[in-house]
Amino acid sequence: MQAISAGFLKSVDQNFRHAMSFLDLPEGLAERIIQCNSTYTVRFGVRLRGRMYSFIGWRSVHSEHCEPVKGGIRYAPNADAEEVEALAALMTLKCSLVDVPFGGSKGALKIDPREWTPQELERITRRFTQELNKRGLIGPGLNVPAPDVGTGEREMAWMVDEFRRANPTDVVNARACVTGKPLSKGGIAGRTEATGRGVQFAIQSYLRDARTTGLNGRRDLNGASVTLQGFGNVGYHAAKFLSEEDGARVTIVAERDGYVTNPEGLPIEALKEHQLRTGSILGFANAQSFAGDMTGIEERCDVLIPAAMENAIHLENAGRINTHLVVEAANGPVTFEADKILRSRGATILPDLYVNAGGVVVSYFEWVKNLTHIPFGLMERRRRERRNHTIAAALERMTGKPFPADIRDEFLEGGAEIDLVRSGLEDVMRSTWTRIADILEAQPELGDYRTAAYVVSIRQIADAYEAIGI
Ligand code: NAD
Repeated sequence: MQAISAGFLKSVDQNFRHAMSFLDLPEGLAERIIQCNSTYTVRFGVRLRGRMYSFIGWRSVHSEHCEPVKGGIRYAPNADAEEVEALAALMTLKCSLVDVPFGGSKGALKIDPREWTPQELERITRRFTQELNKRGLIGPGLNVPAPDVGTGEREMAWMVDEFRRANPTDVVNARACVTGKPLSKGGIAGRTEATGRGVQFAIQSYLRDARTTGLNGRRDLNGASVTLQGFGNVGYHAAKFLSEEDGARVTIVAERDGYVTNPEGLPIEALKEHQLRTGSILGFANAQSFAGDMTGIEERCDVLIPAAMENAIHLENAGRINTHLVVEAANGPVTFEADKILRSRGATILPDLYVNAGGVVVSYFEWVKNLTHIPFGLMERRRRERRNHTIAAALERMTGKPFPADIRDEFLEGGAEIDLVRSGLEDVMRSTWTRIADILEAQPELGDYRTAAYVVSIRQIADAYEAIGI
């Protein structure tokens, strides 16, 4: 069976080279920026179920123009070194685009987490962490993993614990060795949903910008039909926020075993409960199920959000996709060739390195929180609350009217960590959108948002290399 990632690295490389053709970089620098610095392959054994099992994993460091390097760790049965290198390159581009001070890295373990019990997964994860630690591929100032497909805060908690055990004389900053941890282990409020939240901010930024075509001229999502592929961390949170807060109708959710549909809009919370209870979205009572049918993403919709894996839209199915807006919540869901086909059919594509950057942005906040050892807002929250109370009291005295009850609580609040995280994330997503749209306006020959985002990002990496004289 051909790996799912086949051609993914090639697509990223083609996008890189296409964007480079618009930049006048000194000789040799373009190649230096594109190349992946190193990929470490690890094979290790774990004694489980009365015998020895061998595992294979990878950690790629794409660029160290900025350190530490950062990127998720994926647990997937079809992972391979090429896929990890492509994802690491995207991390370099993403961090530069949103201006967080990390180089790009990525890791994977070739494993189907559904085949192992939590206790077994813990032992495998701890052994993997030991291997990464031995090679300097994990550490607060070196390389900082995060969750990705098949991993979450549970795996991050095991990793941070194993890292502390392996480095008992240096525990002060140890928590900053991974991000996406549970709150009790040094995590940050809002990290789990950060990527989905970022997807929402990306769509809002695009729709708000009068220079874009919006949704066929429309500037909001109210009543708009959304098809989602991949109902995991990113997909579920994006669907939840877009339907509950922005009025979108999520009419199709496609998963690896088929899709469900409801033209009125699927109730996202109830669908998630069903998936957690039964192990599948199929058979959900409020929808029609299409078992084994992978064509859900081809049904007509206003917005298509691929939030599963790379290469979901390719040469073969791109001509059957029927939508105004493709929002790349997954990494690399549209191949280089499919991108051209979609655009020739009138679709606008919001690129992955922008759309799904919310995860690394909030990971950056978490890393800073771990290194400063103080939760965001702790020093100012009560002082702000008191000041807001004083302002509200003054307004009431001056006007002789009570402060409006519906906005009173929000106004008086001093700013909890979750509010600050959300505000910081929104700010980054909005300002990054402006940088992408500005450059496309100034240089229309770039042609599309992906090339514009690559150009913004590569320019910044090139400046960093030139500044350090490499
Ligand atoms: P996840 O494991 O939580 O969810 C992925 C979902 O996709 C699963 O429900 C899986 O069953 C489904 N899926 C797999 N293959 C499929 C297929 N062929 N068709 C339909 N559904 C399929 O992973 P996630 O963290 O939500 O990541 C999803 C994507 O977002 C990946 O490309 C990942 O690299 C990217 N991403 C994740 C984060 C993050 O913070 N988790 C950040 C940035 C980018």
